[in-house]
Amino acid sequence: MRTLHFFKQAFLVVFIVGFTHFSFAQGKDLPNVVILATGGTIAGTAEGADQAGYTAGQLGVTTMIESVPGIQELANLKGEQISNVGSQDMSIDIWLTLADRINTLLASNEVDGIVITHGTDTQEETAYFLNLVVKSDKPVVTTGAMRPATAISAEGPLNLYNAVAVAASPKSIGKGVMVVMNDQIHSAHDATKISTTAVQSFMSPVEGQIGGVIYGNIEYYRSPYSIHTTKSEFSVEGVMELPRVDIMYAYADMPADFIAYSIKAGAKGIVIAGVGNGNMNAATLEAVKKATGQGIVVVRSTRLPSGDVLRNAEVNDDEYGTVVSDELNPAKARVLLMLTLLKERNIEEIQEIFFNY
Ligand code: ASP
Repeated sequence: MRTLHFFKQAFLVVFIVGFTHFSFAQGKDLPNVVILATGGTIAGTAEGADQAGYTAGQLGVTTMIESVPGIQELANLKGEQISNVGSQDMSIDIWLTLADRINTLLASNEVDGIVITHGTDTQEETAYFLNLVVKSDKPVVTTGAMRPATAISAEGPLNLYNAVAVAASPKSIGKGVMVVMNDQIHSAHDATKISTTAVQSFMSPVEGQIGGVIYGNIEYYRSPYSIHTTKSEFSVEGVMELPRVDIMYAYADMPADFIAYSIKAGAKGIVIAGVGNGNMNAATLEAVKKATGQGIVVVRSTRLPSGDVLRNAEVNDDEYGTVVSDELNPAKARVLLMLTLLKERNIEEIQEIFFNY
């Protein structure tokens, strides 16, 4: 994996040299926005006009931009293809490539904002990862679509239009990474996918959306509460891989031996997608205690869609050596834990990080 990432970085260096001067197509007196395409259903196509048998990640970034009427009036646009995958295949390698590219682009005076087109399945993980490692106050927006580009009433073009409007707006500066879907603006910290098929597929169940965008008209209701981007202590500069962190889904009569397997496979951290308030059965708790005794960091999150996981409530975290995820769902808790484990820290520090990020 390390070698693969090295080659990707080497490719990117060559790629970047070709873009030292950004030639934005129209050159009008508009903000300059770069669209980084990664794939997903927004770039998906099918034989018919429904979702049957469609393949994500088929259209290139230029075709996507050209399919949105009026988008060129919002910003000077430039597209780059970072990957073209269904986001079920999103990887840490692509995350590291994206983070490097975004940090390089946003360091330039010629770039005012970034839009990332992305599949919806893991969009919240990518957005949250970038929220922690992008080093700029300029707007960074992810978007996608539930309907392939060839489907009846495909919503991708309007989502892309709105995402560009948000990325181009001075109102969006300092808001961290945002997810723009179906006229809503979510903070990367809060957004989660809630439907397998509906166009209304994202929500922020604990804190609520931070704004709305209707045909490019933006209204913010609040700023995100958690630490992000320029205030974040996390950086992936020079990082080639992240420590392995596994997620374990809790359920009635859950076997405890997954924990030992995970550690044997090389996990440095484990997130429990717990029942209720981050809970698990007695056998798993004992296995967790053994794991934390060996220096493995175990974070208690929840399989429920909403609510904080509370420290030392029903589970005594002090006794088991565990950390609570606070509001983070298991997938995002894993992202934060992987970054946290890049440096040696004690459990109290890690807990503080989970309360603040
Ligand atoms: N599997 C697709 C993806 O995440 C689904 C989508 O984009 O809506 O790429």
